[in-house]
Amino acid sequence: MDFEYTEDQERFRQELREWLRENLPDGWQAGERPGTDDPEESVEFLLDWQRTLHEGGWAGLHWPEEYGGADASLLEQVIYSQETARVDAPARINAVGIDFVGPTLMELGTDEQKERFLPKILSGEELWCQGYSEPDAGSDLASLSLSADRNGDEFLLNGQKVWTSYAHVADWCFLLTRTDESGPKHHGITVFLVDMDQEEIQTEPIHQITDETDFNEVFFDDAVAREEHIVGEIDEGWEVAMTLSAFEHSMSDVFSIDQRWRSLVEFCEEHERDGKPLAEHTHVRRELARLHTRIQAGKLTHYRNVSKQMETGVPGPEGSMDKVFNNQTEKKLENFARRLLGANNALWTDGPDDGQWVTDLLMPYGKMIAGGTKDVQRNIIAERVLGLPKDD
Ligand SMILES: Cc1cc2nc3c(=O)[nH]c(=O)nc-3n(C[C@H](O)[C@H](O)[C@H](O)COP(=O)(O)OP(=O)(O)OC[C@H]3O[C@@H](n4cnc5c(N)ncnc54)[C@H](O)[C@@H]3O)c2cc1C
Repeated sequence: MDFEYTEDQERFRQELREWLRENLPDGWQAGERPGTDDPEESVEFLLDWQRTLHEGGWAGLHWPEEYGGADASLLEQVIYSQETARVDAPARINAVGIDFVGPTLMELGTDEQKERFLPKILSGEELWCQGYSEPDAGSDLASLSLSADRNGDEFLLNGQKVWTSYAHVADWCFLLTRTDESGPKHHGITVFLVDMDQEEIQTEPIHQITDETDFNEVFFDDAVAREEHIVGEIDEGWEVAMTLSAFEHSMSDVFSIDQRWRSLVEFCEEHERDGKPLAEHTHVRRELARLHTRIQAGKLTHYRNVSKQMETGVPGPEGSMDKVFNNQTEKKLENFARRLLGANNALWTDGPDDGQWVTDLLMPYGKMIAGGTKDVQRNIIAERVLGLPKDD
């Protein structure tokens, strides 16, 4: 891969920087984070950010123009990730819709589905969640059992999902259901786009280790799904599910981890131990350098995956290497921060940076599991990247 950016790409970077300077919420870069104490306020704030991105033309950078996107190249998307990580831009609350559901519908949805759903995904008018995991079907996703039984033009949904991020605020769910139990387990799965605004769908928040409640148990009791909202064919939803998962696995956290490392360096410059800044202690410098080297290796791995995707046009299984390596780097970084914070850890939100360090220390535990655990990613690397024999 050529590491030099072209003039056009640098122009793109400058334009984005300028836009971020003008549009980031007031006080954001000084560390003021609206809605951190109030989940509802936080959702409103993130929806507002989604609308701002959309109005600025940055919401669907990777979407084709015909669907309202900017048709950006993969390298422009890399620049976007670098720049938004650099200013620690607010999270994109409709990431499931924009990064996974939208692209899947573009490939496999009907014309009516594209027309009905894509514009509202992009504008953030309709928020999406991903209904895959069940109490007995996580890594072994094909064991799912939430049933969809035909009732005229409709299907009645019964069963439970779990760990569904943002289900409590989502308008629609990309839902995996069981429509036939007679054959092998990968057959008989059907994907529905399901309206979450039904009394027959109830969400129960799950309290997370970070003290947040972003994800939920979701219960379906004769909830209705419509035939016109099936993606792909009845009983053949496994391929559809895997298409969405491939988009999910191609995401990388490496630039936000890099930004986190910079914040840690600043922390070490600003805080003292034994009469001198932490950044002047030899063992601190050594550990910061070690982390920096790992992050650079993570970036190179990501760039290599992007190069391959530029050739093949589709995300490959190498995304699993990105995920496992970067999750581990992030965990090492946050563990080191925890050691530096010492007793301040116990202060939680009263601690340095309003408790952000303590919250971030706990984040990698969930990230290692979300979207497929590290063990499952290692199986993918072994079988599909290294060509080793299949796990029994
Ligand atoms: C922060 C977060 C957000 C999430 N958001 C969503 C969401 O929006 N929608 C959604 O559908 N799900 C979501 N999930 C669920 C997530 O996808 C599952 O938790 C994950 O797939 C693991 O499934 P499980 O919890 O059933 O664990 P299990 O599959 O029961 O795994 C238990 C343990 O066994 C190991 N294991 C299982 N199979 C193998 C194997 N073949 N080889 C080696 N080891 C194995 C696992 O690695 C793990 O350590 C989220 C999870 C988290 C943590």
